[in-house]
Amino acid sequence: MEDRDRQVADNGPLGSLALGGLLEQAVNNLWLGIILFDRRREVIYCNQRYMDMYGLAPDEVRPGTPVSNLIQHRLKLGLKIRGEADDYVRARTERTIVSEQAVQEFADGRIIAYTVHPLPDGGGMATHEDITEREELSARLRQRNMQFDIAINNMSHGLCFFDADRRLIVCNKDFIDMYGLPPERVGPGTPLSDIVDMRFAAGSVPAMSRDEYMKWRTGVVVSAEPVDSIVEMRNGRTFKIRHRPMPDLGWVATHEDITEQRRTELKIAHMAHHDALTDLANRALLNQRLEQAFTSNQMFAVHHIDLDKFKSVNDTLGHHAGDALLKGVSERLRRLVRPGDTIARMGGDEFVVLQTPIGEASEAATLAQRIIGQMSAPFEIDAQQTIAGASIGIAIAPADGATPEQLLRNADLALYRAKGDGRGMYRFFEPTMDEEVQGRRALELDLRKALASGEFELHYQPLVKSHSGEISGFEALIRWQHPQRGLIPPNSFIPLAEEIGLIVPIGEWVIRQACMTASRWPKHLHVAVNISAVQFRYGGLAEVIVGALAAAGLDASRLEIEITESVLLQDKEGTLATLHRLRELGIRIAMDDFGTGYSSLTYLQCFPFDKIKIDRSFVRDVATDAGSLNIVRAIAALASGLGMTATAEGVETREQLDRIAAEGCTEMQGYLFSRPLPAADIERRFLSPEAPALPDRFAAA
Ligand code: C2E
Ligand code: CA
Ligand code: CA
Repeated sequence: MEDRDRQVADNGPLGSLALGGLLEQAVNNLWLGIILFDRRREVIYCNQRYMDMYGLAPDEVRPGTPVSNLIQHRLKLGLKIRGEADDYVRARTERTIVSEQAVQEFADGRIIAYTVHPLPDGGGMATHEDITEREELSARLRQRNMQFDIAINNMSHGLCFFDADRRLIVCNKDFIDMYGLPPERVGPGTPLSDIVDMRFAAGSVPAMSRDEYMKWRTGVVVSAEPVDSIVEMRNGRTFKIRHRPMPDLGWVATHEDITEQRRTELKIAHMAHHDALTDLANRALLNQRLEQAFTSNQMFAVHHIDLDKFKSVNDTLGHHAGDALLKGVSERLRRLVRPGDTIARMGGDEFVVLQTPIGEASEAATLAQRIIGQMSAPFEIDAQQTIAGASIGIAIAPADGATPEQLLRNADLALYRAKGDGRGMYRFFEPTMDEEVQGRRALELDLRKALASGEFELHYQPLVKSHSGEISGFEALIRWQHPQRGLIPPNSFIPLAEEIGLIVPIGEWVIRQACMTASRWPKHLHVAVNISAVQFRYGGLAEVIVGALAAAGLDASRLEIEITESVLLQDKEGTLATLHRLRELGIRIAMDDFGTGYSSLTYLQCFPFDKIKIDRSFVRDVATDAGSLNIVRAIAALASGLGMTATAEGVETREQLDRIAAEGCTEMQGYLFSRPLPAADIERRFLSPEAPALPDRFAAA
């Protein structure tokens, strides 16, 4: 034993084994731990690496050491085994040596693979290799693979990799599902063309032939450029495909189902350009279409449509009915235009039709006439027959405007004219309309200042009794003494004053002024004042009148107010209540311009008027036209039957006077007796002690 010890100490672990120094060096530097043992399972040789691996001193592995010691040693180092240590050691040392490969794990995490090779003499050689790092690496790889699998199958996009031969490397489940592919037929190596065939079978392809599709797809592949495409499938889905080439000439593509997103986007885009109620184009879209129309260099027309009766439907039947009418109108408009035309709702009851292109202006007139026709046919709303009625202003491009704004504005001016001309008609834009609007605007500014500047005055026109020629009173008629334009007649500014509400303070001034003037007249003379419908609607009219009478100290019985039937068109109940109140105070009420409205007779029934003023248009023709004479006769008879005064307006000739007196009109007014005159002239001519009574010749025979 002592010899052996020495030998080991002298010759290194190879002991008596006669290995050359170089070889021994090589074996010791091997990455593998090597151990040789004989058939008695005693160590013959082990290299340095083996000792290093297991932390063994040369002494512990010297030749003759039982292998079981080394196994025990490994167990001490923390070798993980199944079962008992003794059993393990016995099993390893008792059975015959066979070829074997195994992996041993240690408590410190080391993993060592060993191989046993039987040797011819019954012994064996074992190699030990520390594979800890390699194992860790492959464990990491395995994990990577798993993570990759999880990732690609949970990315909510379809994903596929193809190689340079256009064969599938890998794809995920989403890809298979999105395109409805048979999963068992899609695996690594499947050619692109097979997948395309499967897609054609499933219908998950765009509306193209197979050839067209392959041509497009191959084009993308060959280009070797990143390409993003949005593809609409035959089955109604929309996919976004991001194709990315890879350095090896293969590619990776992600497939995203953007169907819902697309629908939402389209819906939002639609909403941004359409009116919610009627689904017609809105202003924004109309503007786009107008811009387009201008770039086409063709003639086109813009129709600005306004519904005549919408407001009354909305007011009387409610918003719900108003909405229904707007929808009905939209439907009819849709049926009237051509596919390339645009109908827009501009808000409220205003619509614009862009008719493009047209060959000549008369085509616009034809369409406008059709629209008006359709709008005057009844709509059934809430089981009621309703008419929308339409007025239309037309502007033709490029003549009437070079920009959408200009064209729309000019169509609007034409619309204004159409409405002013009595509604239910169309008007083409004319350049003078612009000037008129400017003029109107200037007039409006002046009118707002006129009252404060004391530019108004009242003229008075006598009312004459037919049988005696005596004056019964005077009608107050307003005049505007404009500082630059001179005298402006009421018909030129009263409608404007009514429109902008100024008639209320102006009318109040008229009432006060007229009462004040009349208070200086002899007590048997009355004063007639014209009251506009707007004054009734505004409220407080009775208070204003009572206040004016009180301020002037004028008896209510000396005031007469003249109203036209338009006063009773709106808020009939409220207006009638005011009229009754005034009448109870002793004020007389006259129906002015009788015969010019639609329902004069109806209104006569609903209020006990004191007087009917027969419109000048009948008086004018009374000598020449039997129809007018008959009307005057009928009205006079009606008035007398109802106990009212019948007054003929606008009597200018002796002949008219005679005819009218013969028909029973009790009172007359007209240039034949006097033009309207300033208060001072009236006093001088008719009321001073020296003034002659109206000549007897004016009394009816
Ligand atoms: P109206 O109430 O029918 O007044 C009668 C109009 O006929 C007056 O016109 C008068 O000058 C005119 N006239 C009287 N006799 C003759 C005649 O023989 N021949 C002709 N051709 N005309 C005659 P004017 O003063 O221009 O007033 C026009 C309208 O303006 C009035 O018609 C009335 O509706 C309105 N108006 C006048 N003053 C006022 C007012 O203070 N307030 C309101 N709201 N309206 C007024
Ligand atoms: Ca009048
Ligand atoms: Ca009148």
